[in-house]
Amino acid sequence: MKQKNVEIVAKPSEPHFVGDGFRVHNFIPSYPRMNMKRMDPFIMLDYNSKYNFPPSEIPKGVGVHPHRGFETVTIAYQGKVEHHDSSGGGGIIGSGDVQWMTAASGVLHKEFHETEWSKKGGVFQMVQLWVNLPAKDKMSAPKYQSIVNSEMAKVTLPLNAGVVEVIAGEFNGTKGSASTFSPLNILNAKLNKNGKVNFNMPSHFNTAVLVIEGEIIINNTEKVETDNLALMANDGENFTIEATENAIVLILSGEPLNEPIAAHGPFVMNTQQQLIDAFNDYNTGKFGYLED
Ligand code: MN
Repeated sequence: MKQKNVEIVAKPSEPHFVGDGFRVHNFIPSYPRMNMKRMDPFIMLDYNSKYNFPPSEIPKGVGVHPHRGFETVTIAYQGKVEHHDSSGGGGIIGSGDVQWMTAASGVLHKEFHETEWSKKGGVFQMVQLWVNLPAKDKMSAPKYQSIVNSEMAKVTLPLNAGVVEVIAGEFNGTKGSASTFSPLNILNAKLNKNGKVNFNMPSHFNTAVLVIEGEIIINNTEKVETDNLALMANDGENFTIEATENAIVLILSGEPLNEPIAAHGPFVMNTQQQLIDAFNDYNTGKFGYLED
């Protein structure tokens, strides 16, 4: 098995606000070389690095907006977020939890800081990832999966190295909690200082490593600091991550769909005509109704 090398280490971009509740660094698709084609099936990655929100009586967030053609995956590290969508999905996720929303044929949803958390305020840290859907599944029914940390699949590493949470896909034979439409692995590794772990991902899977906490060394050579993302090359399967201090690392690896992408704002389809249809369906109320 060949080593999978680091292609680039990306520093977080200048943050911007999504609504008034998410202060994010965008990596996918705006970072040079991390466009939708290169990162396929991952089409968007916004990272809200640790940010202190002052107490607010009115929860901050993003109001009602549509999505079609993909899935939004929200991984909460600190803080609490509340979600509601027009297909009836909804829930609250907090530290360690994951919300996996399949927009597919279309939903309206809203994403806000949870009311009680908002009143107290505090440090907020979260990832939102968009996973593209295969053409054949883009118009399937919307779906909502809430994966609370206590029910998440976990693998304890030998030598007190830490634990790998299997959000989706598989790690060392343990299957992840989320159901997916295409082959992918989403892992959250919580490593102790000096803990080392080995990963195997098929060479053609597009793979990235985001350092949420602490500092790591990949393949004994590449240092990656907090809030930086390492894009892995498609040159091999095997890579190691060693924590130089207690660390949390999000690993994304997915088989490319290799289908045409037509994207505009909240809609990601395969053709321009499907985008026009999405706007028309949205404007004529076919995404359902959701109260502000
Ligand atoms: Mn959204």
